[in-house]
Amino acid sequence: MSKRIVILGAGESGVGAALLAQKQGFDVFVSDKSLIKENFKKELVDNNIAYEEGQHTTDKIFSADTVVKSPGIPDTVAMIKTLREKGIPVISEIEFASKYTDAKFVCITGSNGKTTTTLLTYHVLNGAGLNVGLAGNIGQSLARKIALEEPKEWYVLELSSFQLDGMYDFKADIAVLMNITPDHLDRYDYKMQNYINSKLKIIQNQTEEDYFIYCLDDETIVKELKVREIRAKQLPFSNKQELAEGAFFQEDKIVFNLKGDAMSVFIEQLAIQGQHNRYNTMAAGIVAHLFRIRKPNIRECLLSFKGVEHRLEKVLKVRGMSFINDSKATNVNSTWYALESMDSKIIWIAGGVDKGNNYSELKDLAGQKVKALICLGIDNKKLIESFTGIVPTIVEASSMAEAVQSAYYLGDKGDTVLLSPACASFDLFDNYEHRGRLFKECVRGL
Ligand code: ADP
Repeated sequence: MSKRIVILGAGESGVGAALLAQKQGFDVFVSDKSLIKENFKKELVDNNIAYEEGQHTTDKIFSADTVVKSPGIPDTVAMIKTLREKGIPVISEIEFASKYTDAKFVCITGSNGKTTTTLLTYHVLNGAGLNVGLAGNIGQSLARKIALEEPKEWYVLELSSFQLDGMYDFKADIAVLMNITPDHLDRYDYKMQNYINSKLKIIQNQTEEDYFIYCLDDETIVKELKVREIRAKQLPFSNKQELAEGAFFQEDKIVFNLKGDAMSVFIEQLAIQGQHNRYNTMAAGIVAHLFRIRKPNIRECLLSFKGVEHRLEKVLKVRGMSFINDSKATNVNSTWYALESMDSKIIWIAGGVDKGNNYSELKDLAGQKVKALICLGIDNKKLIESFTGIVPTIVEASSMAEAVQSAYYLGDKGDTVLLSPACASFDLFDNYEHRGRLFKECVRGL
């Protein structure tokens, strides 16, 4: 009898896992406690995959040999606890999918910069003509790619901490850890160490043959490395110190010093600007060097990468004011980098669902650069309290249209209107993409 795989959650990763499991001859059952989106449901029906929605039928789930859990389902829910008590393995889609390919993996994680660095790395490797795919917490799931695409030699994977939590045997051939700053603590029992441990799973099972690329300026990472055994070859990057082996920032350029071979890129020539994007460029560039791509190719691809929608995305100039969409800044650290990278005075649109934010880190930058703060959320109390006396003008807005109108009236020629919320979007919007798109529409309507 074929082994039974139960997949909890029918989003991109769940449906991808179902397609792959079916192709591999498993007895597959998909269960989603909510209603399944029409496009995903159609795929299940078209492929004759058994499923339920709006409920979890325990009999059908507890008969599983293995459960693949969507990253959106916390480990703390009763169903997952019971599965573990019963000794039924609960794994992530990436863990499952990785067993059915011979490909190697470049894996990128961190609290911020995952998507940008993943896309940039893929842009460089693909641009150099390597046989490489892109998957993970971005676009299509790894399982779907393995089920439906021609085999690849390498995949560049964006991994969230939730995916890493469900990974046990998986190994990254090249692991990249961008940074670790507080985020998603609601899923980690409000203990920072739990979240740190999850991020450090990126180097689990690595051997001396593998590589570990990380940010040497991140105190949390450096502290963790001192107390852990790291078997992989370490390649750090830094904005603050020169490195004999790794990448670093020097005056006006990024220097890659790898295996005694040096290469540099002038930051002014990069399409993606800001200190955070220097880090992202260093990480992607180190990966590219490991593939022995020719230097002119690496440079050309690093320079031609245009950035990603909703991440410090330039929208328009209206009446001499620049409008920038950084809707993906859903935590304090990403907003810090946005404020830091601005050269002009800022009209700052922030707010939304606070994930336990500590705004004190932003006060210095806000005091120096922010002329007006527009609080765009249902509950703006904490934001207003935090910046009263620091930012000269604070107003509230209850819709994006109102926020953009206020910004337009409060700003002057030469100012930047920056949407960088430092909060999740669910109080007023469907998601950060919806928030960013509305911002752009409202700006275009001015
Ligand atoms: P992630 O996928 O980790 O959420 P993104 O590349 O989507 O990262 O960027 C999310 C937000 O963080 C954006 O506001 C972006 O400008 C900012 N950001 C990008 N790279 C970094 C970095 N290395 N450090 C801090 N913030 C960053």
